[in-house]
Parts: sequence; structure tokens; C-alpha cells
Amino acid sequence: MGTPHEAEVATDLHERPVDILRELIRFETVNPPGNERPCIEWIGAVLDTYDIEHETYAKDTDRPNLLARVPGGDAPPLLLYGHVDVVPVTGQDWTHGPFEGVVEDGFVWGRGALDMKDGVAMFLAATLRLAISDEQPAGDILFLAVSDEEAGGDDGLRFLVEEHPELFEEVKYALGEFGGFSAEIAGAEVYPIQVNEKGICWLEVTFTGSSGHGSIPRTGTALSKLASFVDALDGDRLPVHVTPPAEAMIEALAEAAPADRRETLLTLLDPAKTDEVLDELGQEAVMLDAILHNTTVPTVVSGGDKENVIPESVTLVLDTRLLPGQTPEDAIEELRALTGIEAEIEVVRYDAGPSWTDLGFFDDLAAVIEDAVEEATAIPFLLFAGTDGRHLSRVGVQSYGFTPIQVGDLPFLDLVHSADERIPVETIEWGTERVVDAIKRYDG
Ligand SMILES: [Zn+2]
Repeated sequence: MGTPHEAEVATDLHERPVDILRELIRFETVNPPGNERPCIEWIGAVLDTYDIEHETYAKDTDRPNLLARVPGGDAPPLLLYGHVDVVPVTGQDWTHGPFEGVVEDGFVWGRGALDMKDGVAMFLAATLRLAISDEQPAGDILFLAVSDEEAGGDDGLRFLVEEHPELFEEVKYALGEFGGFSAEIAGAEVYPIQVNEKGICWLEVTFTGSSGHGSIPRTGTALSKLASFVDALDGDRLPVHVTPPAEAMIEALAEAAPADRRETLLTLLDPAKTDEVLDELGQEAVMLDAILHNTTVPTVVSGGDKENVIPESVTLVLDTRLLPGQTPEDAIEELRALTGIEAEIEVVRYDAGPSWTDLGFFDDLAAVIEDAVEEATAIPFLLFAGTDGRHLSRVGVQSYGFTPIQVGDLPFLDLVHSADERIPVETIEWGTERVVDAIKRYDG
């Protein structure tokens, strides 16, 4: 639990997104338990200073969600949203305190610097700038800070779309995590903008087999079936599916890639050759691999409670991620076919990803990046993981991962959720300006 710190509330914070980020980092919002309330209250106090109307909605009073509104024209509202909770730092070796918001060597250090208090700082600063400017946006700008993303959003966005769907009634487009960062993918310099994401499906597989006294070895035990099952998954892929957002991403990537890579990348779209090309590309294609297959990873094993008893049943949890349009039943069928092993498979949690992609605002967002960075190509991005965007899709909102940052040589993806998470100081102002530009280009 964090002790609430003495956070600064000032009338020039809109000019200082770096200081907003540092203040946000100092709220220890590790989920679980989250304890996001002091952080959300501080955001509310900042909004009050700028006379921006806002409201909180909570399933758990210690974990509120805050929605602010800056009035605009008649176009549908544009939503900027981000989560203020972060993952734990347990067992990690940090150079600087993870909740101090230290600036050193050109970086802001701390848990959440990349995921995603940076995005919240940019969205908040952009909202404040808008509120004091004379220019009116095409539609209302909604700023939403939520709790509980890192544990699935049950107290956050999932709660909001289920209990307060009216808040999103007219919204068509939203900006959130995870995209807009500079990256090199398969030899191409790109800025991926997330347009869709995979669904989350946790499966529990129960194996049963011969049991008895531990002094008499047996074949066909529950544990040996589990071992064969895990072994069958190791290094093998589920079938290829080329979905529309993956196709859009790979085509754009091929366009941006060096000429000698183009053909190889486009061959990925031929399901008969996809896996062969992925093997050829090796380590640099792990992300592409994940967006062309449902994936499944064994994470938790339980069973057996006595040294001299062969357990009759054991269970295995599989973290399974589904491509757009794929269902848990599809994945279960694929798993049975791949492993060839009889077992009872139960769905323990399922959050469908968005089943549709609306690229209506993508070209404007791409132009924001491409006008700001010479030679840059922004590409549509199918995220291999999940964000709160999946919840918004249930109320008809298309979420774009757009928290623009330039990471340079920083191993961005490796630092997310890791020790020494940090972000280059100067990119926070750069990203804020891009968000403001996106709002200006928005025309509904
Ligand atoms: Zn995040």
C-alpha cells in the first residue's frame, strides 16, 4: 500500500506533462490491490483547477474511475482513456525507486512510466490544453482514467461498459494504449497504431488416469498424460489464421520494409507457407507469429497432495489468446487436434477481443505521426495481448492504441512490466503534442 504523497496541483500543469507523469508514478497503485483512489482524486483535483467537469464511477470505492468532459461541437465525442493501476515490482532489482518518479540520465524512471502512466499524463495534459484553448474540438473530448486494467478491468472498464453503457452511447472512436511508439519490425522502421487485439481465454485442463499406491509404478497416470500434453504443445503451433487486421498490418509492414524483405513478409499471408516463413525469420518475428495463430501457454499446474499416492486427476491452466473472430470452442478443438490427448477442458475466463475493426480514424492518426517524423510509416497493429480496448468494443467503440512515444534504442517491449521501466523525458512533451494534433484532426 502506498502512503499518499503530497501531490502538486497547479495551474500550469498542462505545460508540464513530465511532472504529471512523475506525480502519477508516486501513487503506489500496484494491482492487486490497486488502491487507485488517491491517484484518481489527485487527477480530479487537477481537473478542478481547470474548471473541467468530471464524475467518478466505482464498483469498489477504493477503486474509482473518473470521466471528464471538455465540451466540443456536434460530432460524436472522442474518448481518451488510460489505466492508472500498475503491475507489482516484487522480486525486481531497480536502480531507482519504482515509486519515486526520479528523473535521471534523460529518463523518467518508475513503474508505469511506459505502461501506462505516460499515456495518462499525455491524455490529461492534452485535455487541460484543450480546456484553456480558444479552439473548439469537433466533438466533446472525454478523458477517462480507470482502475484495474492489469487484473482484467472487473472494477474498471468492464464495470463501466456493463453498468454504465450510457457513458459511451455516442462515442465512436477512442485513443488508449498500446501503440504509436517507434519500433523496428522485420527490418522496417514503423510506428504501430493498435487497431485490434487478441481475446483472452484461460482454460483448465483436467487429466485423469490410473491411481494407487506410490510403491507400485503404473502407466497411463494423470501426470504422465499431462506431461505428454505439455510436450505436444512445446514448439508446435496451432493452425494459421489470416484475419483482416493481421493482413492490414503485414501489408503495411511489407510496404515499409526494405525491398529485399517485402516478398518474405507478404508470403506470411499464404497460410500454406506462413509457418515456414516464421521459422526462417526466427526471433524477430515472434510478434508476427502471435498475430497469425491462436496461442496457448501452460502456466499453472496443480494436483497430487501426498508423497505416496498416485493422484487420480491433475489440472493444468492454459493462458490462451484468441485471434479476432475465434472462439474458445475453436481453440479447444485445435488443442485436441494438436495434442491428440483426451482430457476435459473447461473455460475459466473468457474476454472476447473486438470482432470487428473500424479503420475510420486510422489515416488521421497515421498522418499525425508521418507529418511529425520524416520517413516514418505508421502501420495498423493487431496487438498480440489484451487491453481495455476489448471492453470498449462491446459498446461499439473502436479503440486505437495511440500514446505516441519515440523510444530510440530503449528496449521498450522488454521494459514493460520489468525492473527499471523508464521513458525518455523529451518524448513525453512530443507525445502530448501528437495527441493534441490528433484531437485537432478529429472531425467525427
Ligand atoms: Zn497497460
